[in-house]
Amino acid sequence: MGKTPLRYAEDPRYQADMAKRHAQYGDGANCHKRVCSICARTFYAAKPHASLCSERCKQQAVAARRRAVRKANGPRKCSLCGESFTARRGDALYCSNACRQAAHRQRPKAGKA
Ligand SMILES: [Zn+2]
Ligand SMILES: [Zn+2]
Repeated sequence: MGKTPLRYAEDPRYQADMAKRHAQYGDGANCHKRVCSICARTFYAAKPHASLCSERCKQQAVAARRRAVRKANGPRKCSLCGESFTARRGDALYCSNACRQAAHRQRPKAGKA
């Protein structure tokens, strides 16, 4: 494959074609009027769920999502040693494997007298 094809609003000829088609048939017929969720620009796309007008906006959306995940994941405090750490998983409780294993050992075993 060569280089990636232009995305929606990056191809003015495609947009002109789609605008014409949209004027004639409205939504449907593989032509949907969409608003970019990043730059709020109106564009036409063949897919009804298209939400990003260009490759640049797509990359911004990916970066924003990554930032949101990082923010949700940390930094937080280790449940054992109180050290702050950045969680790689949403449900991480401990800063390290060592703390996780130590906490596991400390937990009183159920059902044992
Ligand atoms: Zn955009
Ligand atoms: Zn720890």
